[in-house]
Amino acid sequence: MTTRKLIVGNWKMNGSLAANAALVQAIGQGLERAGAAVTVAVAPPSVYLAQVGGLLAAGEEEAGQCRATVALAAQDVSAAPSGAYTGDIAAAMLRELGVRYVIVGHSERRKYQGESNAVIAAKAAQAQAAGLTPIACLGETLEERDAGRALAVVQEQLQAVLEHEGVNGAALVVAYEPVWAIGTGRTASPEQAQEVHAALRAQLAAALGESAARHVAILYGGSMNAGNAAELLAKADIDGGLIGGAALKAPDFLEIIACAQ
Ligand code: PEP
Repeated sequence: MTTRKLIVGNWKMNGSLAANAALVQAIGQGLERAGAAVTVAVAPPSVYLAQVGGLLAAGEEEAGQCRATVALAAQDVSAAPSGAYTGDIAAAMLRELGVRYVIVGHSERRKYQGESNAVIAAKAAQAQAAGLTPIACLGETLEERDAGRALAVVQEQLQAVLEHEGVNGAALVVAYEPVWAIGTGRTASPEQAQEVHAALRAQLAAALGESAARHVAILYGGSMNAGNAAELLAKADIDGGLIGGAALKAPDFLEIIACAQ
């Protein structure tokens, strides 16, 4: 329901100095042809944020205003502001590197790092306190969907973020990513995705009011690709995409962006 779509590429634990440079260059060149009607962001691994941020800034200077700018996103952030948290990265540090968005609660972190709804909500609060926009990921497993619990699961995940102290729900981006669709090549049908997005929008409206809820971007993620993006992005409550595998191939990523124009 937001007017401008948001397309975010999640590179996960992929890339190298050379591969990142080639990918950013190819995306920049493609966007020069595509125009500026979509907001685009890429989320490289944290060790490459400074490199990719520098490349994006240089590309923007060259291209001027004639194309979409590409924002920098991070894949995770600490739930604490600073201190004895070895290996963690604070939101203020990301901000210093020019990061604008940060993914929190990706299902891979819920699964492999055991992140709870409470930790994810604390991360969203930290991100906002530092001036970043959290992209809060929600999604049910296949077992939960088969048990008829998909809506209940994602609504509980969203509610934990909305109710957390310090979180401004109106300044969130939400990403619905059914776990069974991530990296599997199996996408939610546009109707399945729209059903969940509409329920999340209603939940946001109950918490924030209709008008604020309309302005919260709700992204779909889960095997979105050049072949299925147009249909998904045409749905009323799908405001963009969080793209994994297809974000690593510039032609595919650009095709998805073109579908969002
Ligand atoms: C993701 O990791 O957020 C994702 C949606 O991955 P993929 O597009 O590969 O399913």
